[in-house]
Amino acid sequence: MTTAQTTELDVQPTPLALLLLGREADPRSERGVECPGDLPSPSDPDLVERARAAKEKLGDKVFVLGHHYQRDEVIQFADVTGDSFKLARDAAARPEAEYIVFCGVHFMAESADILTSDDQKVVLPDLAAGCSMADMATAEQVAECWDVLTEAGVAEQVVPVSYMNSSADIKAFTGKHGGLICTSSNAKRALEWAFEQGEKVLFLPDQHLGRNTAVRDMGLSLDDCVLYNPHKPNGGLTAEQLRDAKMILWRGHCSVHGRFSLESVEDVRARIPGVNVLVHPECKHEVVAAADYVGSTEYIIKALEAAPAGSKWAIGTELNLVRRLANRFAPEGKEIVFLDKTVCFCSTMNRIDLPHLVWTLESLAEGKLVNRIEVDKETEAFAKLALERMLALP
Ligand code: SF4
Repeated sequence: MTTAQTTELDVQPTPLALLLLGREADPRSERGVECPGDLPSPSDPDLVERARAAKEKLGDKVFVLGHHYQRDEVIQFADVTGDSFKLARDAAARPEAEYIVFCGVHFMAESADILTSDDQKVVLPDLAAGCSMADMATAEQVAECWDVLTEAGVAEQVVPVSYMNSSADIKAFTGKHGGLICTSSNAKRALEWAFEQGEKVLFLPDQHLGRNTAVRDMGLSLDDCVLYNPHKPNGGLTAEQLRDAKMILWRGHCSVHGRFSLESVEDVRARIPGVNVLVHPECKHEVVAAADYVGSTEYIIKALEAAPAGSKWAIGTELNLVRRLANRFAPEGKEIVFLDKTVCFCSTMNRIDLPHLVWTLESLAEGKLVNRIEVDKETEAFAKLALERMLALP
C-alpha cells in the first residue's frame, strides 16, 4: 500500500491538453457529460490549498483512491494508490469512509461500488472518465455473442473470463454464465481455473491480455485463438472455427497500450544499448514477444524497485506512471524511459484533474453528494459472484 503524500503540496497542475493521443474525440468513452456544478478555474492558484482544506474538513468520512495512471496533481491527494482491484478492496477495508472518491475511470468506480458496503457511496470526479476498452464490449453485444455460441452448439463448453477492465454489466454476464473476473496479475490462474470447468474460454474484452496469457503462459498456439468481432455477423466466425477454437477472444483493446509497436521495441534497443524492455500484457502479442519482461503495473513497480543501480529500462505502459517511476528511481541511478517516442497518456484517466477533484471534495464537504456511481442490485449480485470466484482462486 502506498500512502498519501498530502504534505508534499508543491506539485503543479499537469500543463497538458486532455486529448493527447492526437485523435478525434471518442464519443463512446468520452461521453461529454458536463459537471453539474461550477468547476474551479484550472488557473486558480489556491486549488491545492482548497483540496487540502476540503479533505481535512471531511476527515475519515472520505477515502480518496488514486489509480497508478492518474496525474501527479491528483495522486498527491490519494490516501492509497494502486491498480483498480487493489483500490476497490482498500475501499472495502475502510467501512468508516462514507464517501469513496475514485480517481480513475468509470468501470473502476463500479467495481468499488460492488465491493464496498451499501452505506459507502462511490464518487467519480468526472463522469466523462470512461475507458475505451471497457466500452468495446456492451451488454447487448455480449448477449448476441452468446446466442452465436449457442447456435454453433458450443455455448455449454464455454466459460467466460472477463478482465477487470469491463463494465459491471459484463462482469454480471460473466457471473451468470459460470465465469470469473481476472486482473493482469492473475490472468493465468483464471484461465487454468476456466479450463478445468469447460473446454473453451470466451475472453472479454481485451484480446491482447487473453492472447498473451493463452500463448505465453498456457502453452496454447495462436491457431487455438479466434477473434470475435462484434461488428460482424456471427462475430466474423464460422461455426466450425468456433468449434475448433480453445480461446474465443473478444475484439477489444486498450487504446493506450495498443500504440506500442515492434518498431518501438527495436528503436529503443538501438538507442539505448543494454536496455531492458518491460511491457504490460495489454500490449500487442508481437510487442510482448519482443520484450524482455511482461507484467501488470504492480509487477512493473516491483521489478524497478528490485533493479540494480545503473540498469536501463524502457517501459511500455501509461505515461503518467512511467514518468513518476523515472523520477522516483533516478536518484538510485536507474535510467527509466518511456517505450514509445510519442506521448501515450490515457486521455480518459487524464480527465480527472485538480479542478474536478476540488469540486468533488468541496461539494461533499458541503453535504452535496455529486457524481455517485451506483450499480443496481441484480447486476451487483452476479458481478460479485464473478469477482468472488476470482478471489477464491488458489
Ligand atoms: S489505460 Fe487503457 S484500459 Fe486503462 S483506462 Fe485507459 S483506455 Fe482503459
